[in-house]
Amino acid sequence: MLNINSINKGIVIDHIKPGHGHLIFEMLGLDKADYSVALIMNASSKKFGKKDMIKIENVIDIDLTALAIIDIDLTVNIIEDQKIVEKINMTLPEYIENVIKCKNPRCISTSERNIVHKFALVDRENSLYKCEYCDQIYDMEG
Ligand SMILES: [Zn+2]
Repeated sequence: MLNINSINKGIVIDHIKPGHGHLIFEMLGLDKADYSVALIMNASSKKFGKKDMIKIENVIDIDLTALAIIDIDLTVNIIEDQKIVEKINMTLPEYIENVIKCKNPRCISTSERNIVHKFALVDRENSLYKCEYCDQIYDMEG
């Protein structure tokens, strides 16, 4: 098991559902990073049994909004001087743009190129979003 304290200054994304780690890794473009990054899969977790983790030895400006879409249960830890200085829990954003795409084949957003894919949160409890163009409901959990 890698030690969380091996990071001097950076970000640790913890409690990622097993299997979701690589999605976040790709979304943040970490496969192209020129600084130290680690993707740890299936680490043991008291809370979830297993979890994925990402460690980033760099101060990057990450889009937390988009992380919540992939995995609402994850935690972002900001590390300074090898200590956690801030813990950020995810909440679903009211609006999301260009993160998910509408599944309705007749929706204007699926046929028009260069269109901004816009969704609005309609049900926080059930993680439901609605397409701004055609009102198609999108279930984040499913
Ligand atoms: Zn739509």
